[in-house]
Amino acid sequence: MVVVDFENHIIEGAMRPSSDTKTHAVLYDNWDFIGGIVHTHSTYATAWAQTQRPIPILGTTHADHLCSDIPCAPVMQDVMIEGDYEYQTGHQIINAFADQNLDPQDVEMVLVANHAPFTWGKDVKKAVYNSAVLEELAKMAYISLSIEPKTPRMKEALIKKHFERKHGKNAYYGQ
Ligand SMILES: [Zn+2]
Repeated sequence: MVVVDFENHIIEGAMRPSSDTKTHAVLYDNWDFIGGIVHTHSTYATAWAQTQRPIPILGTTHADHLCSDIPCAPVMQDVMIEGDYEYQTGHQIINAFADQNLDPQDVEMVLVANHAPFTWGKDVKKAVYNSAVLEELAKMAYISLSIEPKTPRMKEALIKKHFERKHGKNAYYGQ
């Protein structure tokens, strides 16, 4: 592990920082409520990222955590890829949330097309938790669509009910 500043200068440690550090720095810099970011290439979430498609909300497991599809930031333009790629990956995520009118405090996860997922949270524990949740949702959506490719998106009333019973001001979710 190596400690770096937001410009990727090494503060402490002898190893080279992660190549994805700049992506994380852009997210921390733009979304100041973030206390932790996790980036994996977990199998199911990454498989969805490779299809360049969002993960549709199909069931209550998904709705208990977030009330929208899990967004997929589009494929990056050549100029972004050829430039400061990791830095631009961060901007691709920020832009996707702006374009799709999503609040990163409600949706703490994203797929980056052809790449893999990023998740975040108020602290690193929540970011890791979100990563595990995302992988399970990706797996369930994959299985559901394998059983029935025309599986419809969950209806709005059910999405709202499940999200609000756990997260709304009148939350009553227990065991
Ligand atoms: Zn990666």
